[in-house]
Amino acid sequence: MTTIRSEAFVLSRTPLTESSWIVSLLTRQEGKVRAVAKGARRSKSPFRGALEPLNRVRLEVGLREGRDLGTLTSADLEESAFDLFSSWPAAGILLAVVEVLERGLADHSAEEETFRLVGTVLDGLRAGVSPDLAWVYFAAWFLRLHGVLGRPSHCAGCGANQVLDHFDVGAGGWLCAACKGKRPDQGLQVPAGARAALGRVFGAALPELAPEPFLSDALKPLKSMLYLALIAYLGRPLASGDQVTR
Ligand SMILES: [Zn+2]
Repeated sequence: MTTIRSEAFVLSRTPLTESSWIVSLLTRQEGKVRAVAKGARRSKSPFRGALEPLNRVRLEVGLREGRDLGTLTSADLEESAFDLFSSWPAAGILLAVVEVLERGLADHSAEEETFRLVGTVLDGLRAGVSPDLAWVYFAAWFLRLHGVLGRPSHCAGCGANQVLDHFDVGAGGWLCAACKGKRPDQGLQVPAGARAALGRVFGAALPELAPEPFLSDALKPLKSMLYLALIAYLGRPLASGDQVTR
């Protein structure tokens, strides 16, 4: 039996028995971990209030060798996300964040940068960053951390280095005019403002981006592009996609 002691974000929970849940957790040290929370559904459970989506907890999970499913032995609430789920559209964005993390991360594969990204997005929303910007920041960084989003200066088709404005996820990223011509009706044109905004997302901290007016015009095409890349990465559309494509 090994014990994982880590900070974690609660992702989701599903009923196992009348009194227990299986919880999915994004831990700082071990990546995504699933564990049984025995008695968590009882009114006097020591876990009560801690296992809500995107709460940050300090936990202990016992894990038997060769088993993927652990046993949650303690979970102390460090920061609740309950307040963020009480208003739309922030709540819709967070549902999409949880879905991407659930589907896009492998179990027991350390993802400290992704863990920190979630904290940054939650802190940004608490500080008043617009939910749209928080989503764009999350989606862009999630894709880059997982090697999906190339740079709009390097053609994914032929390797040419030039300024590119055509994003074609099926071709592996940004394409030059010649490579684009070989794939008619594929991909989408990303306006200069949206490309500049993407560059800023990768070049500045989230709170610094919040007051930039250029972002609001660029957000819509950027959201479309990121959504296409995300569903290509995840293999199918998000159930919560309506929240992040409007
Ligand atoms: Zn090319």
